[in-house]
Amino acid sequence: RTVYVNGSYVAEQDAKISIFDRGFLFGDAIYEVTAVLNGRLVDNPGHLARLERSCGELGLVLPIRQDQLVAIQHKLIDINQLQEGSVYIQLSRGTDGDRDFHFPQPSVQATLVVFTQARKLVDNSQARNGIRVVTLDDIRWQRRDIKVVALLAACLAKQQAQSLGADDAFLVAEDGTITEGSSCNAFIIDKQGHIITRPLGRDLLHGITRRALLELADQQGIVLEERPFTREEAYQAAEAFITSATSFVWPVTHIDGHRLGDGAPGPMTRRLQQLYHAVAAGAAEP
Ligand code: PLP
Repeated sequence: RTVYVNGSYVAEQDAKISIFDRGFLFGDAIYEVTAVLNGRLVDNPGHLARLERSCGELGLVLPIRQDQLVAIQHKLIDINQLQEGSVYIQLSRGTDGDRDFHFPQPSVQATLVVFTQARKLVDNSQARNGIRVVTLDDIRWQRRDIKVVALLAACLAKQQAQSLGADDAFLVAEDGTITEGSSCNAFIIDKQGHIITRPLGRDLLHGITRRALLELADQQGIVLEERPFTREEAYQAAEAFITSATSFVWPVTHIDGHRLGDGAPGPMTRRLQQLYHAVAAGAAEP
């Protein structure tokens, strides 16, 4: 696989960054993941807009223009002949060659890394059969709206979910409401067929797939309730699902062992999943 590092296209085993890079030492870095379907980027302007926002929130400066970044994404898709998967972008604050909490001089350029990953987005067992989730305390920091690489809490949650026999975790805030999944946004559908998902704020990531899904549901005339929901409300839901760039829409069949509906992916979730797959395949830009 060919990857991009600070201006160069190199084989992955030849890619190098400094051990003093702040992304490595402090998690002082942001990232974006854009899905690739049929060799084309899905919802990429949304992902790049969020990257710009993350930059602004942290005072990071992209070393290249956005159109140049898009050209890098396309070039890697071409070189690596990627049909289905994702393109990962990471921007760290670089280093002035030592370990120091203070930001480096403004002349120090950010470290930019871009690579592709092949993966089945549309046809995979989670998309077909749904996933089981457990609820865990949300122990992350208070700016979850910024897409930072410091993902230790998410790794711990996924690992704990797995050790409990589940596929993923829904994270629960101190007030008992669910913020989101460990690397996805969380939705429930109540017995009236209303979609309920947490409103945007600093306590969750503003998912690009979340926004696309809500637009789709709205076009279908489905009632949307953007409000916090509790773990107990989720147990009683008719259906549930999650969204992210790398899962698209995955049905949730069990929460903490509580079976939703008959324990199979729900009909509304299935319909939204199919609609989203069609949009992702069709609306992806060249
Ligand atoms: N929430 C968290 C914590 C995430 O890490 C992600 C994606 O990685 C999402 C939500 C979904 O965001 P998106 O749909 O933009 O991929």
